[in-house]
Amino acid sequence: MRWLSQICEYYPLSKLVQLSSSDILDLLDQHQTNTILTHPTIPSQKGTMILVGAGPGHPDLLTQAALRAINTADLVLADKLISSETLALVPRRTEIYIARKFPGNAEKAQEELQERGLQALIEGKRVIRLKQGDPYIFGRGGEEVLFYKGHGYPVSVIPGLSSALSATALAGITATHRAVADQVVICTGTGRRGALPVPPEYSKFRTAVFLMALHRVEVLIESLVGVGWPLDIPCAVVERASCRDQRVIRTQLGNVARAVEQEGSRPPGLLVVGWGCDVIHPRSSENPWIVEEGLGQDLADVLHHGVDGEPGHVDVA
Ligand code: SAH
Repeated sequence: MRWLSQICEYYPLSKLVQLSSSDILDLLDQHQTNTILTHPTIPSQKGTMILVGAGPGHPDLLTQAALRAINTADLVLADKLISSETLALVPRRTEIYIARKFPGNAEKAQEELQERGLQALIEGKRVIRLKQGDPYIFGRGGEEVLFYKGHGYPVSVIPGLSSALSATALAGITATHRAVADQVVICTGTGRRGALPVPPEYSKFRTAVFLMALHRVEVLIESLVGVGWPLDIPCAVVERASCRDQRVIRTQLGNVARAVEQEGSRPPGLLVVGWGCDVIHPRSSENPWIVEEGLGQDLADVLHHGVDGEPGHVDVA
């Protein structure tokens, strides 16, 4: 049954329907020879590890390479942030392990995950490390590559759509725009040991995106204002980008802390600051902020997978 289900998963439907009886017998022959040649305790092949970027959450935003890696893995080690719709794509026969990260045990959870990965590699398995967004943008991807490399296992990396740029685009914000923004800086609000990192200098032409920052947005804003970012620069909080319950709060730097406090949080979310924020969605001067709920019908029409088609609506503060 395992062999049959692997055949069904590896071949596209168009190929499957073309297989003749003798093709199937050949495949079965190959399988039996491989099985007989394989010593039960010594892995027949060296384990492989791929770091796979899963994009911001919506399965339609996975790359084809990511999907193929998901379909052919023996073990999937997933971030806690990976959406349930993406996890649902993992074949039933494949083992999944989800990082048990919660505040205070991030280091331990990371070690546990790496050890599991290493063990599976020693057993000759095909392991994928499924990471939210892009593996090398604040995903500790580099650390993991060095860990496995140090144990003699090279790692391949499949890039993913980082939330830093995809949440921005999904919120209708153009991160660069001629004569408005000619550079983008991706920052974190949580540096080593949880400290606030040095804020990026203000430049009129810079769009700054802050990940892992909304839980301390007030101190972040203070530090930005301290290095010259003006209080009236437009900004947006984008939460659960690409998910059915995506939410965008459009406001100005001076109001964002109050908006987050009043509207509450819907993790994961990020903050985009820059004059590019109001190119496509100009600010209304009457309201301190506006809240947009849901993907909006235009996006729901193009991102089909798992979306029930409910139109989004706009709330005004
Ligand atoms: N490697 C990831 C980032 C990991 S850090 C990437 O490239 O996207 C985790 C942070 O990413 C979260 O705290 C949040 O700021 C941001 N994030 C991840 N997914 C998001 C989403 N769907 N919408 C908004 N922000 C998201």
